[in-house]
Amino acid sequence: MGGSWKIDRERCLRCGACVSVCPADALELTEQGIFWIKERCTFCGICAKMCPAGAIEVKR
Ligand code: SF4
Ligand code: SF4
Repeated sequence: MGGSWKIDRERCLRCGACVSVCPADALELTEQGIFWIKERCTFCGICAKMCPAGAIEVKR
């Protein structure tokens, strides 16, 4: 599956909203911030839509 997923770590509030809404279980909240599991991502864009900080950009 093709696409790109990007996070702006300075904007991220570490609220965990993106982790909760990801239908593919492709995001984890770690001590370093959000960890993206590329192999699981379907590039649906839901995480970007739900992020209160506008910190995620998804393209497909
Ligand atoms: S929803 Fe946005 S602000 Fe919240 S943890 Fe995810 S990337 Fe960070
Ligand atoms: S684009 Fe969709 S599948 Fe990929 S991390 Fe965001 S919510 Fe999960």
